[in-house]
Amino acid sequence: MADSWEMLEHACRQCHSCSLSARRTNTVFGDGSRTAEIMFIGEAPGANEDRQGLPFVGKAGQLLDDMLEIIGLDRGMVYITNICKCRPPDNRDPLGVEQETCLPFLRKQTALLRPKIIVCLGRIAAMQLIDPDLKITREHGQWTEKAGVAMTALYHPAALLRDPGKRVDTFLDLKSLQREILARCERTPLRRVGRQQPAPAGGPSQEQA
Ligand code: SF4
Repeated sequence: MADSWEMLEHACRQCHSCSLSARRTNTVFGDGSRTAEIMFIGEAPGANEDRQGLPFVGKAGQLLDDMLEIIGLDRGMVYITNICKCRPPDNRDPLGVEQETCLPFLRKQTALLRPKIIVCLGRIAAMQLIDPDLKITREHGQWTEKAGVAMTALYHPAALLRDPGKRVDTFLDLKSLQREILARCERTPLRRVGRQQPAPAGGPSQEQA
């Protein structure tokens, strides 16, 4: 596979390796800094992402931006992508075969980025990257280490839109992430932030970021 970000993104845009390519408007390769120390990984694009070609836009994306802001981050300081780069129809979960087919892109992105921290957004990314038996309701916010990379899972922003009751747990998970960034990252200066409370309850649900 490609040796540079540009070649990899080009290969991704041309990819027809699984059936998700048939109905996509755009591939959604990733967004943010290609020298970031922190990588956020969701499951697959939704309708807004497919339309714009960017991960985590729309209401779930706005909530992710709010989550980053709580700990003094913004998109330009992290890298954001998904397991699958094309939208599954009707926002269903990506199938195992679709995830497996697309994973080489994520592996290459990770090899190019060499993050110090990986944050899985939602159960599908967490089960694929941390533990196939992971239960997000029980293990969100817990830390593990693989090949020198600290890894954790947060609730997916779309899940937080559906169930604002999860936001207190996510606030605590974000504070834990903030501590991990301060301990591990050298090139990620966190801004001082005023808001130190969970984001207010959000609007209607959105199935995927
Ligand atoms: S989801 Fe991934 S493997 Fe499938 S067509 Fe899109 S880029 Fe290729």
